[in-house]
Amino acid sequence: MTTTFDISLSPPHLDGAERRFVEEAFESNWIAPLGPQVEAFEREFAEVVGAGSALALSSGTAGLHLALQLVGVGAGDEVLVSTLTFIASVNPIRYLGGTPVFIDSERVSWNLDPNLLRDALVERARRGRLPKAVVVVHLYGQSADLDPIVAACREFDVPLIEDAAEALGASYRGRSPGTVGCMGVFSFNGNKIITTSGGGMLVANDPDYTIRARKLATQAREPAAHYEHVEVGYNYRLSNLLAAVGRGQLRVLENRIEARRRNFDRYRERLGGLPGLTFMPEAAWGRHTRWLTTLTVDPERFGADREAIREALAAHRIEARPLWKPMHLQPVFQGLETVGGAVAESLFAQGLCLPSGSSLAPVQVDRVADVIRELHR
Ligand SMILES: *Cc1c(COP(=O)(O)O)cnc(C)c1O
Repeated sequence: MTTTFDISLSPPHLDGAERRFVEEAFESNWIAPLGPQVEAFEREFAEVVGAGSALALSSGTAGLHLALQLVGVGAGDEVLVSTLTFIASVNPIRYLGGTPVFIDSERVSWNLDPNLLRDALVERARRGRLPKAVVVVHLYGQSADLDPIVAACREFDVPLIEDAAEALGASYRGRSPGTVGCMGVFSFNGNKIITTSGGGMLVANDPDYTIRARKLATQAREPAAHYEHVEVGYNYRLSNLLAAVGRGQLRVLENRIEARRRNFDRYRERLGGLPGLTFMPEAAWGRHTRWLTTLTVDPERFGADREAIREALAAHRIEARPLWKPMHLQPVFQGLETVGGAVAESLFAQGLCLPSGSSLAPVQVDRVADVIRELHR
């Protein structure tokens, strides 16, 4: 079922600057996992997002797995998590035998609703059974409303983990999402705002977390020459070669954000006047990177529904995708508890992600917009 598109949703965008670091890695013969590129990438990344410490990993999913384990999530423990997200936010809860409880979105940023979160915590405190963790997801390049989320977690002393895989470069009241909770996770998967083809970063202000995560990610090897192990670990570290790609990509991050925001501005210019189309709002609390340009389609007012638009674009070899299907609607999580859900359901029913790559040309944005305008007429 591989369709090739002329215009893809969010293809990798290399700069050329990556080569310098990759060549350094080759010349030092440091192709193996770990090495100086990894250390430099961690240091530079921590500086860019303003975190105390950072750990480079083979994926964002690995980072979430380690973060959940470090706050003590185990068999039978509840974890409250955004329902509107990619499944990687939730799978690691299951790896540890935990039970996800899904929390609906609000309409201002489409992210986790702080009021529903607090309600769920109040109710669980009353029952004397608080969750082991909260996972907040920052979707499509925009931070969730962190202040009230942090306040609710503090009130009940529940650790907050941030899934910032889609939000590198975003801001929340001057801070980077991912650096506000006890740990945050970023991804460098091929479709993210910067990429190493695959990879992730775990950040924390308290370096104890990254020190413990570093050990777990390296087969939990004890500091001894003879490979001593007292606990079970993972092989989750990033290779030196991919860290070199990441260092080059990190240098063009601001440029990538500007390009994606420009795409959004052009879509809004071309489509903003059409009835029934509503772009994802940019909340007042910070910068949205517009990693993806997303909108909702009211079929009555627009005259065609989301799927009609997506299919028309596909017929023109243009890739568009529905918004994330909420986790509480996924067969794999059937029967699990959900708090609210109607907002995420309506966003899924009407929501569409448009081609948003930082290498997209203005004429390509115009082609996409023309197909959509045509459907309205
Ligand atoms: C991409 C993504 C991840 C996982 O990242 P990988 O590096 O692919 O493991 C996690 N959460 C969200 C919301 C994502 O979009």
